[in-house]
Amino acid sequence: MRDLTPPSDTHAAPAAQTDTVVMKFGGSSVADPDKIRHVARRLVEARERGARVVGTVSAMGHTTDTLLELAASVSPNPHPRELDMLLSTGERIACALVAMAIHDLGHEAVSFTGSQAGIITDPVHTKAKIREITPVRVLDALDRGKIVLVAGFQGFSRDTMDVTTLGRGGTDATAVALAAALGASCEIYSDVPGVFTADPRIVPDARKLPEISYEEMLEMAASGAKVLMLRAVELARGHSVPVHARSTFSDEEGTWVRDTAGMEQPIVSAVTHAEDEILFHLRGVPDRPGAAATIFDAVAAEHVNVDTILQNVVGNAAEVSFSVPEDDVRATRRALERAQETLGAFETEEISDLGKVSIVGAGMRSHPGVAARMFRTLADEGINIRLISTSPIKISCLISRAAVPAAVRALHAAFDLGATDTHRAGDSE
Ligand code: ADP
Ligand code: ASP
Ligand code: MG
Repeated sequence: MRDLTPPSDTHAAPAAQTDTVVMKFGGSSVADPDKIRHVARRLVEARERGARVVGTVSAMGHTTDTLLELAASVSPNPHPRELDMLLSTGERIACALVAMAIHDLGHEAVSFTGSQAGIITDPVHTKAKIREITPVRVLDALDRGKIVLVAGFQGFSRDTMDVTTLGRGGTDATAVALAAALGASCEIYSDVPGVFTADPRIVPDARKLPEISYEEMLEMAASGAKVLMLRAVELARGHSVPVHARSTFSDEEGTWVRDTAGMEQPIVSAVTHAEDEILFHLRGVPDRPGAAATIFDAVAAEHVNVDTILQNVVGNAAEVSFSVPEDDVRATRRALERAQETLGAFETEEISDLGKVSIVGAGMRSHPGVAARMFRTLADEGINIRLISTSPIKISCLISRAAVPAAVRALHAAFDLGATDTHRAGDSE
C-alpha cells in the first residue's frame, strides 16, 4: 500500500534520469484520432529511452462539457453519484484508445480506471479529494515492462464503494498524486508550452516562465489560470513533487513548478483572470456574533469553494458579499436557504456579470505601491472596481466581466511582463 507521503528524493531529476515518469495529457492533446496516436508515440519514446512510463489522459476534447450538457438535458438537477458514473467514462474512453494506439506501435500497454489503479478518494461526488493510492496493478504492469494508462479525473471511495470524480481539470491531480505515490517525475503536457505571465490566448506577448514557486502557482491556479488545477498544485507542494508543465506538440523545455526559495523574487510574476465568478450579495444579515460562521458553515458543508468575502455593517444589520465559481451556484443557494433557517430571512442577490483580474508575485510582500499601481492602471482604462481582495502575494479585483480581457492586457503591460525578442510566447527555445 502507498500512502501519499513525500518521496525521499524531493527534487526528482528530469525524466531521462529517473526510473518512473508520469506523463499527463489534457483533453485538447487527445482531441482526435491523430492526436491520440501522437500521444501514444510520445509515451513510447519515453519508454524507449528506458523510463517506466505511466500515462494519464483527460477525456477527448470537450467530452466532459458534452456529457454535462447531456445530463442537464435529461435532468435539471442530476444526481451527483450518477453524474460521476457518467463523467468518468470520458477519461476511460481516451485511455483505452491511447493503449490501443500504443499496441499498434509494437509496445505493450494496459489501461486502468482510477479505481483499478488504486486511486482512493473521499466520498464527495464531483469534487472528491485523493486520500491515498494503492497502485498494486500499476506497479505489477510496470514490472512487466508495460506502458500503463490511468484514466484521469476519477477515483473510488471505500466509504461508499462508488466511483468519484475530482473536479474540473482533475487529471492534473491524478498525475501529481500518481507521481507522489510512485516516486516518479511528473510531466503535464497541454496545448501551451508552459505557464505564462498571462493567458497567451488573451495576451499575445505573454512570456513563458522558466520556473515558478509552488506558492505563486497556487495563487495563480486559485485566481483562474487553468493551466494547472489548484488541487494538483496543492498536492505537488504537499509532497514536494516538481511539476514540468510543457507542450504536447513540441520538445521545448516548459515551466518547472517547484520550490524556488532563495532565488530572486519578481514583484509581479503573472496576471490571471477568471470569468466564471458569481457574486452573492446578502442584505439584512443579523449583526451578531456567529452570523458569518453560520453562513459559511452551511456553504462549506456544500463543498463550495468561496473566494472573495466582504462584510460590512449598514444600520443595524450586516451586508455580506462573496464570490463562488459558476458551477457552485446551486449548492450555494441550498446553503443560504439552510443558513436562513437559523438566522431568519435575509435578502440575497446574485450578480453574474462580473469577472476577476489578479496580479501574483512573491516579491509583492516587500514592495509597497503595487496595489496603487494596479488600481491606477484599471482606472486609466475606465474600469470600475467592484471588490478588492488580497493575500501577501496576490491582489484581486472584481470588475465587469466584459472588461476582463482589456484589464489583463493593461496590467500585463503596466507591470512590464511582456516577452523580449528571445522569449516570445509560443516560440521554441
Ligand atoms: P488541458 O486540457 O491540457 O488540461 P487546459 O485547457 O486545462 O489544458 O489548460 C491550458 C490552457 O490554460 C491554455 O490553453 C491557456 O489558454 C490557459 N491558460 C490560462 N492562463 C494561463 C497561463 N498563465 N499560462 C498558460 N496557459 C494559461
Ligand atoms: N475531463 C475533465 C474536465 O474537463 C478533467 C480534465 O480535463 O482534467 O474537467
Ligand atoms: Mg486542464
